Amino acid sequence: MTTETRLRIAMQKSGRLSDDTQSLLKRCGLKLNVSDRRLLAHVSNMPIDIMRVRSSDIPGLVMDGVCDLGIVGDNTLEEAALERQLMGSKSEYIKTSPLNFGGCRLSIAMPEEFNYQGVDSLNGLRFATTYPQLLKRFASQNGINVDFCMLNGSVEVAPRVGLADGICDLVSTGTTLEANGLKEVEIIFRSTASLIQTVEQLSPKKQSILNTILPRIQGVMKAKE
Ligand code: ATP
Repeated sequence: MTTETRLRIAMQKSGRLSDDTQSLLKRCGLKLNVSDRRLLAHVSNMPIDIMRVRSSDIPGLVMDGVCDLGIVGDNTLEEAALERQLMGSKSEYIKTSPLNFGGCRLSIAMPEEFNYQGVDSLNGLRFATTYPQLLKRFASQNGINVDFCMLNGSVEVAPRVGLADGICDLVSTGTTLEANGLKEVEIIFRSTASLIQTVEQLSPKKQSILNTILPRIQGVMKAKE
């Protein structure tokens, strides 16, 4: 059982999910000041601390029980869970609530001129990606072999510079792909942000804080629909 009395929530420090996450927490009545440089921000009106980190660190913090809750994209979550399973690290979590922001899809995109005839046309090719585990799972589910190179940013440029045949990257509108002469050929994973919880039993104090904020989170989500 986790012992501290303040509920600890991990959120993205800065990036695509941080504004929506911050505004969700504020609309739930949490008074927080995250404008300073501190990575651990105290909520002044409730026993809650907000830990502001890189997106990719959130799943591990929750799976290891360092944070009680986390708000993260399903793509990051699933990739981390697969990778941790492979490494034999803790990979369990509770999906407490889906959230209706951060919508995107993980897709395979190929140069415009590529003659795409179905998944088999991807067999033996090399892809630049930040999500190798999700790509490998897609390949094995579809009976193809793929190679990959890891890139943490500017993935779209890889085919043009000869680093890869195609890419496996997040897409929301498709304009970045288009601007880089790429076309989306397969959607391999659909994602939104989610609220996740550690599988470790929360102390009664923390559980009661969660019981207070969870209906508020769900209320805010409903109001946005
Ligand atoms: P960090 O910079 O915190 O390590 P990151 O590189 O994943 O993480 P962002 O690019 O801000 O940071 O993306 C955060 C999340 O936003 C993604 O994991 C995804 O869930 C969501 N997202 C929504 N739309 C897009 C998009 N078009 N491209 C990338 N991410 C998107």
